[in-house]
Amino acid sequence: MVHYDVIIIGAGSAGVPATREIAKSGLSVLCLDSKPSPGQGDNKHAIGGLRATHSQKSKIKVCLRSLEILSTWEEKHGENIDWVQGGYLFVAYREKEKKIFQETVTFQKKQGLDIAWLEADEVKALVPGINGNGLLGGTFSPQDGNASSLLTNHVFYTSALEHGADFKFKEPVKDLIISRGEVQSVTTTKGTYNADFVINAAGAHAQYIANMAGIIVPVIPDMHEAGITEPVKRFFNPMIVDIRPKTNEIFGNSKNYYFYQNHLGQIIFCITPDPPMYGLSTEETSMFLPQVAQRMVDLLPSLANLKVRRTWRGRYPSTPDASPIVGPVTGLDGFFNLIGFGGQGLMLGPGLGELSSRFVNQKLTKEDKEVLEEFSLYREFNKEELLK
Ligand SMILES: Cc1cc2nc3c(=O)[nH]c(=O)nc-3n(C[C@H](O)[C@H](O)[C@H](O)COP(=O)(O)OP(=O)(O)OC[C@H]3O[C@@H](n4cnc5c(N)ncnc54)[C@H](O)[C@@H]3O)c2cc1C
Repeated sequence: MVHYDVIIIGAGSAGVPATREIAKSGLSVLCLDSKPSPGQGDNKHAIGGLRATHSQKSKIKVCLRSLEILSTWEEKHGENIDWVQGGYLFVAYREKEKKIFQETVTFQKKQGLDIAWLEADEVKALVPGINGNGLLGGTFSPQDGNASSLLTNHVFYTSALEHGADFKFKEPVKDLIISRGEVQSVTTTKGTYNADFVINAAGAHAQYIANMAGIIVPVIPDMHEAGITEPVKRFFNPMIVDIRPKTNEIFGNSKNYYFYQNHLGQIIFCITPDPPMYGLSTEETSMFLPQVAQRMVDLLPSLANLKVRRTWRGRYPSTPDASPIVGPVTGLDGFFNLIGFGGQGLMLGPGLGELSSRFVNQKLTKEDKEVLEEFSLYREFNKEELLK
């Protein structure tokens, strides 16, 4: 039977960067996926937002590292990932959000984030035409940005291959063989492979893989829809995030929504339905368009006549507190979870790929241990991240 140091289940936003880092460290690694090529799970549904602007220490640290990797990728490797450093702007129209943002800014700065509170006039200068009615200001973090999720996944994939990683596609994992409290091997529809470590990076299907290992993980996929418009001349840079909940008796309620203008001038947008739509379907409905249209035009009236070109639906592999589950499992040697990324897998993947490599190489730093503590499967899950 073929033996690998590490097998990673899932060639997505998390699994591919981890495969690359582990191969780069010199270990033998196999990444398995049921799809025909990398990044074809929820990775390709991401709208490309990359931020370190979070309210939790570990997320900030990990995403700062991801931003460092992605913002310098083209310079270091000569490969384009459509990286644009446009920043993130969280807008406040109510005292409630203003208070949350201003309190969070102090904490974020302490963690090394480049972020500032902007007064309403400064926000208006940053986004020409933004609705000034009731605008109280917002936070702006200039080092955040966006990139293509498919290009990003692809460069990690080709780099992993160059470092000697093996990938097998169209090979769904069917079972894990466990003996004496240790994962021994992975069985797919085509074969069985031995490994010292198995990493569960199966995204929306993380629970199924965990079940094969006899464990329960609180990862519940909920469906989100997104869309892209025709291009217009670029007139604003940041990802604009509005976390106010909105009621809409006809089209349904929503929580936060966010959009940015990409390098081609197209507006890319996404909204969080309220209540969440749990499930695995990727069949888009466009039902969310009237919700988004209303909110987007309200915030930026000049977008009123833009035509939407395409919409799609994907899943957030969500946890109850909106933070991922990363780390080993008590009583089961050789098994590591890299799951539960919600709407943030693209931005957390590269930083956590490096951490996963340090874990299997037994080279964890003090900071890594703190991250694993915050992302532990055994935490309380009772404190939702404020900027999820
Ligand atoms: C509309 C939308 C917008 C989003 N926007 C952003 C954004 O702007 N920024 C951001 O950071 N994130 C965003 N996300 C979230 C992001 O897409 C996810 O967090 C991320 O893709 C999760 O990464 P993953 O590696 O866990 O899962 P995936 O990328 O889905 O990878 C998991 C892989 O596991 C494979 N798999 C599953 N089961 C098996 C099995 N039994 N055997 C073999 N393979 C298996 C799947 O085929 C898949 O390829 C968005 C998501 C959606 C839906």
